Amino acid sequence: MKVPFVDLGLQRASIAADLDDAVRGVMESGAFIGGPDVAAFEREFAGWVGVEHAVGVANGTDALEVALRAMGVQAGDEVIVPAATFIATAEAVVAAGGVPVFVDVQPGTFTMDPHAAEAAITERTTAVVPVHLYGRLADMDALGALAAQRGLAVVEDASQAHGAARSGTRAGAFGTAATFSFYPSKNLGAAGDAGAVVTRDVDVADAARRLANHGGTQKDEHVTWGRNSRLDTIQAAILRVKLSHIDDWNAQRRTNAAIYSKLLAGLEGIALPTPAGEDHVWHVYNVLIANGRRDEVREFLGAAGISTGVHYPLPVHLTPAFTSSGAPEGSCPVAESLSSRALSLPMFPELTEQQVAFVADALGSLVTT
Ligand SMILES: *Cc1c(COP(=O)(O)O)cnc(C)c1O
Repeated sequence: MKVPFVDLGLQRASIAADLDDAVRGVMESGAFIGGPDVAAFEREFAGWVGVEHAVGVANGTDALEVALRAMGVQAGDEVIVPAATFIATAEAVVAAGGVPVFVDVQPGTFTMDPHAAEAAITERTTAVVPVHLYGRLADMDALGALAAQRGLAVVEDASQAHGAARSGTRAGAFGTAATFSFYPSKNLGAAGDAGAVVTRDVDVADAARRLANHGGTQKDEHVTWGRNSRLDTIQAAILRVKLSHIDDWNAQRRTNAAIYSKLLAGLEGIALPTPAGEDHVWHVYNVLIANGRRDEVREFLGAAGISTGVHYPLPVHLTPAFTSSGAPEGSCPVAESLSSRALSLPMFPELTEQQVAFVADALGSLVTT
């Protein structure tokens, strides 16, 4: 048996006719930039998240930059980001002219530690970017309260958490603004690069729309500085098809995660993800391998036909790109230890119970040898 890390082909096969119709519709319409599919996807996605506005952009990294700028982040502003995230979270702060300030994550959830965030605030701090890492919601109650009390903007990086929800509020609907990536392997993925900014605030939505379209909302209008980061129309048409399946796909991910957690329970040297209900959509099913054996375990699984991932081999503050950021080794111990122990097991909606069992058996045989 072979178990891929992700299999996008199975997803396509299940909805191929609808995807092909969507692409053909755009080709025949000749409306390749903007057009009805972009507007419709923005409306439908905002409604699904539970906010008033969505602005489609070119990718999730741009979505962060555009959202930060639209929320008023300016050159030299300090923006608090977690050390455990994909590098884009910090890159976007730099692209917006800001300075990323790395803080540690909480053990157990691996999302931004509200106490660490509070301790990092200076008079130059203007925003905080919680990341819903692996698909699990950050502690938005504590972080939202902190931001409100200290007058900071909150931009949720929801790129891994489409549909994660707490008490009926979905990722992207906790603060004023949030961002999504629709990179193909994300829970909601396009057939290429795509992203969105979502917000409850019409002024933030208008600002984001101008920033992503040369500073205006129509041709030859340039009321502010802007750039080109528009959502591609073919991607919007594809995303509209997939949006109608995302709740089912997330439910299947939750089922697969529950089977993993049941079959792997009690294995020595492997720490399982903290139990989660609706607040996790399992973009990644991440276990921790103790005793410096992560890479050995990974190799063993690879030889058995099981593909795995590491999210991420280095915490962002220790990547070469950000070593001058002022956060030395040892400053974010939870994120640092996560990088050396994290192992992401195969996870996608179409994964079968037999495949999950095969992975669990392989891990079990290794741990007991
Ligand atoms: C994927 C991702 C992004 C960036 O998205 P792109 O569409 O690849 O630019 C940003 N933040 C997080 C946490 C991500 O996982």
